[in-house]
Amino acid sequence: MEHCFKDVVVVRLGEQNGNSMVLKLTTNQGLGIHAVSVPREGFSYTGPTWAYLFENEGLTLIDTGVTGSFPRLAEGMACAGYQAKDIERVIITHGHEDHDGAVAQLVEETNAELWAHDIYAHLQPYDPRDVERRASSPLQREMRHIVEANGAMPEPAPEREGYLHNRRTIEVKHRIKAEEQVGALTFMHAPGHSPDEICVAMGDVLFTGDHVLPEITPHPTTKTTYTAEIKSHLPAEYHEEDGLYGLETYLRSLQKVADMGPSISILPAHRLYNRSRYNFLNATRGTELIQHHAKRLARTVSRVGNRPVSLEQLTRAIFDRGKLMGGNLYAALSEMVAHVELLEDTGDLKVSDSGQVEATGSANYRQLLQELAT
Ligand SMILES: [Zn+2]
Ligand SMILES: [Zn+2]
Repeated sequence: MEHCFKDVVVVRLGEQNGNSMVLKLTTNQGLGIHAVSVPREGFSYTGPTWAYLFENEGLTLIDTGVTGSFPRLAEGMACAGYQAKDIERVIITHGHEDHDGAVAQLVEETNAELWAHDIYAHLQPYDPRDVERRASSPLQREMRHIVEANGAMPEPAPEREGYLHNRRTIEVKHRIKAEEQVGALTFMHAPGHSPDEICVAMGDVLFTGDHVLPEITPHPTTKTTYTAEIKSHLPAEYHEEDGLYGLETYLRSLQKVADMGPSISILPAHRLYNRSRYNFLNATRGTELIQHHAKRLARTVSRVGNRPVSLEQLTRAIFDRGKLMGGNLYAALSEMVAHVELLEDTGDLKVSDSGQVEATGSANYRQLLQELAT
């Protein structure tokens, strides 16, 4: 796939999955960007978090890595010739721990300003995982039953308490609003994977956080996560549009990226380098991700057919059986819920109070997908 980098220099070699790698990228327009991979301890499916560093009205950093990784980030920056104390602002693409985990320590030790989407600031009191688990719809209740019966609830890491404390107390100095511009940067709100997700455009580059990733498909939130309690913590401007959570919201945000076309290169927060290969992709990766979900919607409708099935049966039929254990089962169920919710909204599936799923015979979701693309 074509990309806009005329020069890629390896500043520090890392591991095969990109752990600890530092790159200097120069775009065709002459913009210089350092990509610093911040590893996490132990195995991680998504791999290290890629943080990006560049000059834009002062030294700007995008994302930080997991809790406790500030020293590793600072060390990577030093390889690139920068000192962490010179960071003017740190922009968080969304409130997941592998992105904002190290931000509290960074801000404390460097005086950098924290910038995040307005919604990030409003949702600071919440643990994003709790939000997901407390949501209540027949599908969510059924999902919790299955997770409990299979002992599949992922254990929180011991350092999570500290992270949540930092998350609640850290001050967001600048609340980003959609389409805002700062120097050469333009911010774009891209909810779906997370309600506060932003993409950041600079010249012919788009920093996509976890919204658009190479190799893997980011996890969509479920719509019922947007509970009355969450709503009560958000200002009225976010009440009207029912568009912060869920698969349809995610697909709309993907289309925004797809519309930017092949001349825009994406710099993702994971998998920029993996299996000893670069993953330089352009904005058409957004279309690929939409197509992935379109296929899964089609499979879901045809798998349900005219016989009611349980959420567990459906999930095990759609996802690779061998991998459906522990945290993987949880992730697959939640993704299945996101798909069923959309198909319920389009009238193609019906969900009973006990969480049984039944097809109605229609395939209106196709029309929705067509509308998205126009
Ligand atoms: Zn994320
Ligand atoms: Zn991530």
